[in-house]
Amino acid sequence: MISIYNTLTRKKEEFKPINPPEVKMYVCGPTVYDYFHIGNARSFIMADMIRKYLEYKGYIVKYVMNLTDVDDKIIKKSIEENTGTDVVSEKYISAFMVDITKLKIKKADVYPKATAHIQDIIDVIQSLVDKGFAYNIDGNVFYNVLKFKDYGKLSGKKLDELEAGARVEVNEEKNNPLDFSLWKKAKEGEPYWESPWGKGRPGWHIECSAMSCKHLGETFDIHAGGSDLIFPHHENEIAQSEAANGKKFVNYWIHFGFLNINNEKMSKSLGNFFTARDILKAYSPEAVRLAFAQTHYAGPLNFSEELLSSAEKGLEKLNNLAEKINEEINNNNTGGVDPSFNFAKFKEGFEAAMNDDFNSPQATAVIFDFIREVNRAAAENENINVNFYLNVKDFLRKTAEGVLGIIDFDAAGTTGSGQLENDLIELLIKLRTDAKKEKNYALSDKIRDELKNIGIVLEDSREKTSFKRARK
Ligand code: AMP
Ligand code: ZN
Repeated sequence: MISIYNTLTRKKEEFKPINPPEVKMYVCGPTVYDYFHIGNARSFIMADMIRKYLEYKGYIVKYVMNLTDVDDKIIKKSIEENTGTDVVSEKYISAFMVDITKLKIKKADVYPKATAHIQDIIDVIQSLVDKGFAYNIDGNVFYNVLKFKDYGKLSGKKLDELEAGARVEVNEEKNNPLDFSLWKKAKEGEPYWESPWGKGRPGWHIECSAMSCKHLGETFDIHAGGSDLIFPHHENEIAQSEAANGKKFVNYWIHFGFLNINNEKMSKSLGNFFTARDILKAYSPEAVRLAFAQTHYAGPLNFSEELLSSAEKGLEKLNNLAEKINEEINNNNTGGVDPSFNFAKFKEGFEAAMNDDFNSPQATAVIFDFIREVNRAAAENENINVNFYLNVKDFLRKTAEGVLGIIDFDAAGTTGSGQLENDLIELLIKLRTDAKKEKNYALSDKIRDELKNIGIVLEDSREKTSFKRARK
């Protein structure tokens, strides 16, 4: 049984998906006006880890992450760079895809863009207007917060306290300072779409209500994002979706703690941030993921270079073992002993930790205990049967690699080890070059194609032929 701390109920609850084994999960994604920073990366990685653990447990997760591609910050950047907002957003969407791939984050099933869902957004706003939850003032449409009786249920904020605290903003013609924009009337030079209320663009909160409903339905299992989004973003999403559909919006709300620097939140506006892209020039993605996995997702985490360098150091043991495992599997020793080893104990330990609200620090500790025990077994027995290493690899593949993302067995196989394999490939390349010289193209092509079939790709240049391993 998996238990999840649900922000909505403020307690740990047993996870019961609406329609098992299917799980529908929505995560608030980036506003694509710049490279994302390592604080954003923490939220993306933790969401990825949760998704992968659910998949490890046999759930089939439909995972949706929105891309906010129309917004004040994007417009500002496009003016600074004297280009279109679509040029800005496409550039940073491509960069986002490159960077999350480097971080070993599994792709979402859908990355809905706001600009590709304008009609869906207009439809939700229209239904809110029709039901009396929204009003139009001269081309600006606002949500009437006082009309939604459950407003504040996620964040625990009370309407009267909110009202007392709200500043009356200048130049805003809305009825109540707490009301928020659903549709923003177009200003000179801004991108706009036609709507029943005139030319304009959607507000940020309504994007997520419209796109989550479109891709996951009116009620779905898990909604996640950074803890800064609890209020007002997620509170407003609930108000919009529940008013429009008359149904509960989301069953489990998960929020990620902030990545701080010197106990201040890392953010673009404070200027105290490192992009994930820059961090990955100095540290491996596995080190970044280990550093994050060693703190529970909901707690704050203070960022420092030491955090990453000590994670990098911690990985050495894991990398050394991965290389040894790959080597032993290559050697394929079918004789020798199969040391007695309690794999079940570690599997249970890992699952018990992750079942408890995705306690990755505990799960990581189990992995390091496991490594210690495997090394001990290897030291105590001289001649070990390959089966043992196959079992060790199977466990680590599913857990440390598949869920936590703190090891990459394919990379471990290509650095240092597998010398014999490399020599054999070089030998085949030489035979192919000889065949070509003799104009035996049938044979040279056969060697190239057969190597390709087993994942070795030859690259011819004028001077020589080199090879690389195609990633699985
Ligand atoms: P943004 O591009 O600012 O809309 O943020 C994308 C995601 O990153 C959202 O889920 C935010 O809540 C999250 N996020 C932003 N800053 C941080 C931070 N310093 N630590 C953790 N998550 C963050
Ligand atoms: Zn959102």
